[in-house]
Amino acid sequence: MIFRQLFDPASCTYTYLLGDRDEALLIDPVFEQAPRDLALLDELGLKLLATLDTHVHADHVTGAWWLHERCDSRIALASVAGAMFSDLPLSHGDRIRFGHRYLEVRATPGHTNGCLTYVLDGQHMAFTGDSLLIRGCGRTDFQQGSPRQLFRSVHEQILTLPDECLLYPAHDYRGITVTSVGEERRFNPRLGGEADAHDFVGYMDNLNLPHPKLMAQAVPANLRSGKPEDARLPAGIPAWAPLTQRFSGIWEIEPITLQEYAGTVQIVDVREASEFNDSLGHIHGAKLLPLSRLTDSLTELDRQRPLVTVCRSGVRSAQACALLNKAGFDQVANLAGGMLRWRSEGMPAACGDENL
Ligand code: FE
Repeated sequence: MIFRQLFDPASCTYTYLLGDRDEALLIDPVFEQAPRDLALLDELGLKLLATLDTHVHADHVTGAWWLHERCDSRIALASVAGAMFSDLPLSHGDRIRFGHRYLEVRATPGHTNGCLTYVLDGQHMAFTGDSLLIRGCGRTDFQQGSPRQLFRSVHEQILTLPDECLLYPAHDYRGITVTSVGEERRFNPRLGGEADAHDFVGYMDNLNLPHPKLMAQAVPANLRSGKPEDARLPAGIPAWAPLTQRFSGIWEIEPITLQEYAGTVQIVDVREASEFNDSLGHIHGAKLLPLSRLTDSLTELDRQRPLVTVCRSGVRSAQACALLNKAGFDQVANLAGGMLRWRSEGMPAACGDENL
């Protein structure tokens, strides 16, 4: 089984990718991180079957709708949440299959009335959302929260799992990634040890936390499964050509797309001069600016026009993208696979004055 824990630094949210036999689920995807998640699914060769939110979040917007638009993935969360566009409403006891594996749905209300915990078959892993955090738990003072209900949920549905079952929360603000049932049963300062419901309610009723900064936007957006009101792509998604973001963070352009956009972009070949006219040749109109002197030659480039970097295999040109981004160029993409792929896909090239 493939398992990845991904992090959104803006909201300290963990997103979990579970994959088996080419099929995947994503738990708690974050809207702004959808390109990253799509890149990882693509690189690992996984088909996204569904996104599963543990609850209607108040501190970030879910990536469910965006991923659905791109992957046709189903949108799953608790049926009681009543979110628009959710086509896989979940209830306690449901099973969500991927490959030969499945997640069992457990209702764990209390932080919100629609909180779910997802338990992997075999009970070695569970995804607790905000019902149980590492040495903590989600607040209970809005979204129909109830400390009494949360105490019951955690004790009946999560802490009854085997001691060694690993628990993965929706957030951690200290960067701690995982805990276990045995650990939380003993050391959770609110819910573990000898704490009873009365102790817990007293603790939770006196947290005095300010409301999350994004709550007014995030909750309504999540009730639309993360579909923006204007259905527009967020800032930071390049609009000048259809690009793909790799999991490394670099934006790539396919050879066929570059061919189509060749008239509107600057093509910068970052190989050495000797390679520019070797047997691979170069793309018509490409400007030769070797990587070793790229940062000294930035004035030769037009900051207003999109820029595509090219090298032999796409490795040096990826580094050129990173250098250009750092220098403030914001419309930059790498030619996927470099000249090797360009030529293997039969695209036109030149060598000296000769067309190849
Ligand atoms: Fe929450």
